[in-house]
Order: sequence, then structure tokens, then C-alpha cells
Amino acid sequence: MWRGAAVRVLRGGGGGAGSPRSASGAAVAQLRRRLESELEDIRGAGTWKSERIISSRQGPHLRLAGGGAGILNFCANNYLGLSSHPEVIRAAVEALEKFGAGLSSVRFICGTQSIHKDLEEKIARFHQREDAILYASCFDANAGIFEALLTPEDAVLSDELNHASIIDGIRLCKANKYRYKHMDMQDLETKLQDAQKHRLRLVASDGAFSMDGDIAPLREICQLAQKYDALVFIDECHATGFLGPNGRGTDELLGVMDKVTIINSTLGKALGGAAGGYTTGPKPLIDLLRQRSRPYLFSNSLPPAVVGCASKALDLLMESNAIAQSMAAKTQRFRSKMTAAGFTISGKDHPICPVMLGDARLAAVMAEDMLNRGIYVIGFSYPVVPKGKARIRVQISAVHSDEDIDRCVEAFTEVGRKHGALP
Ligand code: PLP
Repeated sequence: MWRGAAVRVLRGGGGGAGSPRSASGAAVAQLRRRLESELEDIRGAGTWKSERIISSRQGPHLRLAGGGAGILNFCANNYLGLSSHPEVIRAAVEALEKFGAGLSSVRFICGTQSIHKDLEEKIARFHQREDAILYASCFDANAGIFEALLTPEDAVLSDELNHASIIDGIRLCKANKYRYKHMDMQDLETKLQDAQKHRLRLVASDGAFSMDGDIAPLREICQLAQKYDALVFIDECHATGFLGPNGRGTDELLGVMDKVTIINSTLGKALGGAAGGYTTGPKPLIDLLRQRSRPYLFSNSLPPAVVGCASKALDLLMESNAIAQSMAAKTQRFRSKMTAAGFTISGKDHPICPVMLGDARLAAVMAEDMLNRGIYVIGFSYPVVPKGKARIRVQISAVHSDEDIDRCVEAFTEVGRKHGALP
């Protein structure tokens, strides 16, 4: 009965005039009109995001719902191909059977199992840090850290192109906020000088930026941090597992593992791709987050199957750096062949390879035409990237074969010539 009434209200129906049901019916009708107009604006602006439905596992070859099979996938964050690795899947099944579907609890009530503690210890060991704390996502880790750590006496200095979750996390804290120009060390230095009046300074940057595939100048950031007595925080979502000789991340790649104080990262990309995030760093900081960080305190524990996936992914990475090395070689193959074909690829040495096209329509029609040739890539345009800097973002995975990469380059070359992106 309640359901019938709810459906009537959502469809804009209701009771007689003056009844409480008609009042809420009018409010819902008004809400529907407002939402429909907002949705129309999004469509009109050409920024509508549609979701393609995949009917297979995540991997280099996909099946799309509605027929398309054998689609070559170049747009997942599955950098190491571990999302469908047999040992990762087996570890998830074993954890599910042994520890159950989920905890029905936050960590501090009755939501901590031995596997959560083991995974936190493994993450800290992987990054060579003192301790780690798990979250439901890296978005949550970023939402939780700044507010718990910084007060109005402190300052945070953030790269202007940092991920949305860092921006939101900083919004939630009461520290003094400085935004420095993207990877501009002169601007960071000026802001650090200004921030000397505050008790504590925290420089926050993505380790690798997901739209451009560029890597933060961490060595220079750490030098400035040392000069101006600041702490360094990095978000390693697009680095953990594959940047650096052993896949430890941007700090390993640039030789500053001992100079970065705090790392936030995800379990939902290279590390098995299921879900989850974490902070790793000094033990007192992790202890404080367990007491104060709101997304940790007020959200459910990670499900055992998810913990099992990430734990196995880390085992595989700590056993050998072969997967990370294989991804680096594939990345190099794609970048050099595309450059030789005449395309401009943004960034350097990163598996995020944005094929720069400039024009938004060109990026959209080329991405569509690539899919017609069985290659799944995504075009990005304003407001996701600046006006005039539209691109197709290609992401390389260790499980792409050399033939997959070559097929992608050939298709780009054909499509680029057809649409005038290449002579
Ligand atoms: N930080 C960066 C740089 C990201 O790219 C993402 C995901 O897109 C996140 C944080 C959020 O990670 P998660 O998916 O674990 O919430």
C-alpha cells in the first residue's frame, strides 16, 4: 500500500486538494520539473555522460551488452591486469567463504577482522611506512584526512589540478587554503613563503595526474618542503603498483620515498580493481585517523572478498616486479608508435596516454569510429579538460599484448587520417 502511494507521488499523482498527499505531490512535481530542466541543460551543453554496459569481466578484451564481443579495451585503470587475475579471484572467493559477505559494522564496533589488520600491515610494508588505515574508497581517504589533521592554525597548499576528492577533502577542513598553479614550483614557493605564518604547512599533490598522464615534480616539491618546513602528501591512485622500479609509486620513481610523509591511494585501480582506499604514513597519524576521520568512523568495513583481492594483488607485486615492468614496456611501445605516426601524446612514461586532438567534436567522432573498429577509448572535452584541449585518453595495461597495442595504433592512424587529425 505504501509502495502504491509512493509510486503515485513520483508519477505526479496525489490525493485531493489540501490533503498532505497533494502538498507533497506538488513538491515532487516541482522537483521533477527542476531536475528535468537541469538534465536538459547537461544534454544541451554536450556534457552528458552515458554508461556503456559490459557483460564480461574487466580485461583487455571485453564483451559489450547488446552484442559487441572481442572489443579491445583501452580505458580501464586496470594498469596491471589484476582485476581478472585468476589468483586474485581465487583469493576473493576464499576470503568470502572464510570470513563471510560483509561485517555489517564499522571498524571500531565489530567490523575488524584479522584480514583487515593483515592488509593494513601489508600496505605499510609495501610503501615502507609505519602504518596504514583502510577506507571504503580513496575518495573517502581524501575526504577524511585533511579535516582530521589540519586546524585553523595550519595551512594546506594544493595543486590546482588535484583530483576532485582532494579538493573536496580540503573544503571540509578549516585550515588556511592555498592553490598553486599546476606543477609550478615558483608559484608553490611564493605560496609557501606566505604560509610561513601558520603552524604547519601541508603540500598536497596527485603523484600522477589522470587527465594529462603527467607526473608531479616530487623531487622539487620535497626540496621546497624541506626549505620551508612543510609536510608532503601525495595521492597515488594512478601510480601505486606500477610507477618506480618496484611499482611503489611516484616517490620510488623519483627517489624521495623518505621525504613524502603521507600517501593516500586506492585498491580500486592497479591493485586488483575491486574497491577500497587507504592512508599510509607515520603511526601517530594513522592512530589519529582511527579516532577522528569521519569516513572511517561512520562507514562500513571493507567486505572480506575485496580485502582478499587487494591482499593477493600486493603479494603478487611484492614477489616480483615483472608485471610492472611489462606494463612499462607496453606503454613505451604505444607512446613511441603513436608519436611516429604523427600524434601528440601528453605526459611522459605513464600508461595514461592522452592523444591530444584539441577539438571536442573531433575527439568524440574519432572515439566513436575507434569503437566501430572494435577499440574502446574515450574522448574527453570541456569541462573535464580545458577548452581547446580535447583528447582521447588511452590507458595501457600489462595484459595488453604487443598485437593489441599495434592494432590500436593502426586504428588510430586510419581514423586520424579519415577525420583530418593526421595529414
Ligand atoms: N584520487 C584520484 C587521483 C583518482 O583518480 C581517484 C579515482 O578516480 C580517486 C582519488 C578516488 O579513488 P576511489 O575510486 O578509490 O574512490
